[in-house]
Amino acid sequence: MVGISGVEKGSPAERAGILAGDVLVSVNGNGITDVLDYRFYLCEPRIELKLLRNGEEYTATIKKPRYGDIGLEFPTYLMDEKKRCRNNCVFCFIDQNPKGMRETVYFKDDDERLSFLQGNYVTLTNLRESDVDRIIKMRISPINISVHTTNPELRCMMMRNRFAGDCLAYIKKLDDAGIAINAQLVLCRGINDGAELERSLSDLSALANLESVAMVPCGLTGHREGLYPLRPFDAASASAVLDIANKYGEKNLASRGARLIYASDEFFLLSGRDIPENDYYEGYPQLENGVGMIRSDCDEFCERLENAENRVYNREVSIATGEAAFGFISSLAAKASEKFPGLKVRVYAVRNDFFGGGVTVSGLVTGGDIIKQLKGKPLGETLLIPENMLRAEGDLFLDGVSLAQVSGSLGVEITVTPRGGYALCEALINDRKG
Ligand code: SF4
Repeated sequence: MVGISGVEKGSPAERAGILAGDVLVSVNGNGITDVLDYRFYLCEPRIELKLLRNGEEYTATIKKPRYGDIGLEFPTYLMDEKKRCRNNCVFCFIDQNPKGMRETVYFKDDDERLSFLQGNYVTLTNLRESDVDRIIKMRISPINISVHTTNPELRCMMMRNRFAGDCLAYIKKLDDAGIAINAQLVLCRGINDGAELERSLSDLSALANLESVAMVPCGLTGHREGLYPLRPFDAASASAVLDIANKYGEKNLASRGARLIYASDEFFLLSGRDIPENDYYEGYPQLENGVGMIRSDCDEFCERLENAENRVYNREVSIATGEAAFGFISSLAAKASEKFPGLKVRVYAVRNDFFGGGVTVSGLVTGGDIIKQLKGKPLGETLLIPENMLRAEGDLFLDGVSLAQVSGSLGVEITVTPRGGYALCEALINDRKG
């Protein structure tokens, strides 16, 4: 049963007489507990809703296009509480956040419904058999799973949850039922790399419905007091991961026609190896995990630059990025300046003092660090920052500093560039002043 918070004006629900404050009990005889039930059972051209008004049951019948909405609104997106994670992973990034950030930053969710609706990764540790059956019944596919290792004992140890090994059986059950699987392995040096990684990749490659596997190194901040001791990857250990990824990727390529196994960009940067070409990424199924972002951005940037009309520039701009992407962004800026000699681009690598440790990605750079490190530096007419430095609303950095504060403190206009190399190139070359 789910309370209705609003009814859209002119919608089929309003025409059927449903009011805000009523309670939705069932759709075509099926009980509704959350958004998945609701969306699934709504996909009929004729639906009969059972509802409660002031405790009295009544029925509303609605005719609509098969996949059309009926205009009911609910208090939360999930129509239910978000599920909390039941693990205590040795590598959890949330445990390593500095104190004093927004409360939502510390919330550990692990909700299979967000896997389907927003692409979140889930551990399966808080699913019951009936939840798995529901996924299969509704044919909700693909599912994104944080596997980490296929060794049950090791998984229990890494996630510090004694049930974390047992629920690996759900992966097989989902695969047998034809549910597509995207897997993620957060690698901890000396724990689930090496022979354990070989075991995981071999087991995952045996799944008929495997769509992709992403390997990412665990993120280590400078706030690890009292936490499990973990070592960052270095060039040799990152190279070893790439060798194993390649071995199983090549095997899959030969036997299944697709690599399916990809190491994140960070492993390539750490190892000093070249970023693979476009073909390696097979359509970029794991871009959100930082797999192939550099290749994709670089290709987009170069294509946009190549198509840019020749013109004379007299423009100075700057770009703020994280330490990891500095070399790559600098090489793109150099390409733009080479094509347009009057376009001067300064790229600044912002060291992450806020998170400390080995955090070098641009998405975790904070406003405070930008102000401290770029104050007094030549920034030109605008400072470009990527949108992933800001929260979804687009106004605040992770440390709560606003865009306006950064702009005011540095005395420069800020240009937020949308994700991707195309947008970065546009921001550099499409100036209004010429
Ligand atoms: S599943 Fe592990 S890494 Fe994810 S939020 Fe929970 S404890 Fe942290």
